[in-house]
Amino acid sequence: MNLFNLRRPQPSLDDLTVEPASVQCDNPSSECLMPSVERPRQIFVRGQGSWLWDSDDRAYLDFTQGGAANSLGHSPSALVNAISAQSQALINPGFGLHNRAQLTLAERLCQSTGSDQAYLLNSGTEACEAAIKLARKWGQLHRGGASRIITASGSCHGHGFAAMSASDCQNNRFEPQLPGFSRIPFNDLPALHAAVDARTVAIMLEPIQSEAGVIPATEHYLKGVERLCRELGILLILDEVQTGVGRCGTLLAEQTYGVRADITVLGKGLGGGVPVAALLARGTACCFAPGELHGTHHGNALMSAAGLAVLGSVLDHGFLEHVRESAQHLREGLARLANRYGHGELRGQGLLWGLTLSDDSADAVVKAALYEGLLLNAPQANCLRFTPALTVSKANIDEMLLRLTRAFSRVRTAQLQCRKGIAV
Ligand code: PLP
Repeated sequence: MNLFNLRRPQPSLDDLTVEPASVQCDNPSSECLMPSVERPRQIFVRGQGSWLWDSDDRAYLDFTQGGAANSLGHSPSALVNAISAQSQALINPGFGLHNRAQLTLAERLCQSTGSDQAYLLNSGTEACEAAIKLARKWGQLHRGGASRIITASGSCHGHGFAAMSASDCQNNRFEPQLPGFSRIPFNDLPALHAAVDARTVAIMLEPIQSEAGVIPATEHYLKGVERLCRELGILLILDEVQTGVGRCGTLLAEQTYGVRADITVLGKGLGGGVPVAALLARGTACCFAPGELHGTHHGNALMSAAGLAVLGSVLDHGFLEHVRESAQHLREGLARLANRYGHGELRGQGLLWGLTLSDDSADAVVKAALYEGLLLNAPQANCLRFTPALTVSKANIDEMLLRLTRAFSRVRTAQLQCRKGIAV
């Protein structure tokens, strides 16, 4: 018998939009917070591994992990120890001075990815903008001033002016569209061949378009893009903000495709929840000169120590193997569930998966899942995204599948009740 269901009335679709009303009265209100995204009312106070607790001490299994940022899960001891030790020694000597964590992280990133230079920044958006700037500097030096960047529709390279001009993943109605970008359909080589001209300096892509609904580049496409870049002597920029740092079962997703980017962008998972991003470059793409990059907290000792702790864990013996094994368990479980509920395609790699639903009920499923103590995310109206901690256990995955089954049933029941209501 499911005691959980006994405690709760049968839902309707409207019920799914209402969260449990047991929010403690001594909690701060959200009235003074400028609105950004729609958030549930719960206030989260504690996390450990794959679990989060709200202020009512209710536990939630977290399969979003801060949009794939918390690569080692919540408050992992490797990260906690590294940032507490670093914060006692030195937090921020200042942008104009070297610090040990920054130099070590840059060196380890270069060694482990086969890059020649690395630079540390605060967010994926900033790192994408720096990649665009770097490519254009290279265009001045090596391609007669070419500066046009080709990107793919559905891509998301961030929220700054240049990054948004290269993306169409979010509502960007307030952002001016900068000139110098062309957008072509994803996974379409002929469209890419037709778009490239003498003004093109680089092609910038995500190996897997996460915000568009977890759409992987085909191997034929990405290899074809790389070949085109080599033939024309232009740069390949891979935005691995979502896919890098072990998310796809290899350190970089490019390894699973067998391609090599000239410029790579890392973010999210690199800091394990602490804001740190990286710009990596190979060969002649290492062309920034002193004074061309600047940021108060770039390479800050505290965030660099976080990046080092995460990278060290991901490179530990057996870590990526664990990711690949968990990935298989997750993929098989989701495929079984999708089949049982008549849902659609399952796409992704490693521990980044998108499940296409049979209708536009992804938001309702996310709300029903929250009700069941499961945190999920819906990048599209008909798509659920799963980005658990890379340290997720098979038992966590099984528990998630159980809770997701209940969430699907809740939504189905609510849909049937709505239909009956309409029929009466
Ligand atoms: N690039 C990709 C592929 C992303 O998914 C995102 C954010 O979701 C970004 C860049 C921007 O990263 P940030 O939100 O850290 O600025």
